[in-house]
Amino acid sequence: MPICDMCSTEVEDIFECKECGMQCCEFCGDKDKKLCDVCKQHSKGGSSEDENEEFEEESEDEEEY
Ligand SMILES: [Zn+2]
Ligand SMILES: [Zn+2]
Repeated sequence: MPICDMCSTEVEDIFECKECGMQCCEFCGDKDKKLCDVCKQHSKGGSSEDENEEFEEESEDEEEY
């Protein structure tokens, strides 16, 4: 059985990400779009998810432990 490059799990069904060429199982990417989760996040178009915006670096004094 093929092994998913993302989660290193043996799966019956695997697809190749069209962006990075990684072998992905259906749990690690979008099989229909042939995109792994990583590339899917990079090339999201028109979705209304605004969760992972770029973090703005705040250079205030941080407490060091
Ligand atoms: Zn996987
Ligand atoms: Zn990819």
